[in-house]
Amino acid sequence: MAEFIVHQFPCLSDNYGLLVHDPATGDTASIDTPEAGPIMAALAEKGWTLTHILNTHHHGDHTGGNMALKEATGCKIIGPHGGGIPGIDQAVAEGDIVNFGSFTAKIIETPGHTLDHIIFWFEDQNTAFVGDTLFALGCGRVFEGTFDQMWASLAKVKALPPETVIYCAHEYTTANANFALSVDPDNQALKARTKKIAALRDAGKPTVPTILAVELETNPFLRPDDPGLQQAVGLAGAPISEVFAEVRRRKDNF
Ligand code: ZN
Ligand code: FE
Repeated sequence: MAEFIVHQFPCLSDNYGLLVHDPATGDTASIDTPEAGPIMAALAEKGWTLTHILNTHHHGDHTGGNMALKEATGCKIIGPHGGGIPGIDQAVAEGDIVNFGSFTAKIIETPGHTLDHIIFWFEDQNTAFVGDTLFALGCGRVFEGTFDQMWASLAKVKALPPETVIYCAHEYTTANANFALSVDPDNQALKARTKKIAALRDAGKPTVPTILAVELETNPFLRPDDPGLQQAVGLAGAPISEVFAEVRRRKDNF
């Protein structure tokens, strides 16, 4: 099985830059482009040449470096259809297969945060690049879609194999943990994880990537079907999408 190397580094105030490198072909993809400078520096540090940009959605902190990087490297830009991706060469949609180096990614559309949001799922490498759809202990704010759409998108993520390694685009985990405890106060796994997160952040270490199985146990946005969480937000037995919407609204006002 072909394996890739992922290099993660901070960009902007709380984004992560992600370079995915294929040692067999030399191909290297940037997952989103928060800013060109740190991405160019990371490429130089690794001695890698950028061949692809894989964009998850149109927001500036995910596409801001597209044009400068394309100009500098001639890389190919692959991203969602919808017209919002600067310099796009290949627009993709639900179920499409993207080829990059020795690897193939399946495209999963996850509208909600934006209408154009997609996830790149590398099934054989057991890895998903989820942008601003799911975060460690959180999920993206619902800007363009509806709560129902966002819940349907998260349900797709929930259905991936539990061992999937999840790379999200931001380090929001400490704030997310504080909120998660407010709606899921009796969740022992969440309490234990919160301690681990505090230790990681105190040591200046990232909490990303995460593992889907861990999120399933502790992320309130994946747990609106949990009776304890439903009780805690006053919606025992309510439709799951309604519970999700309530949790998301509470987070917006937390
Ligand atoms: Zn975004
Ligand atoms: Fe973002």
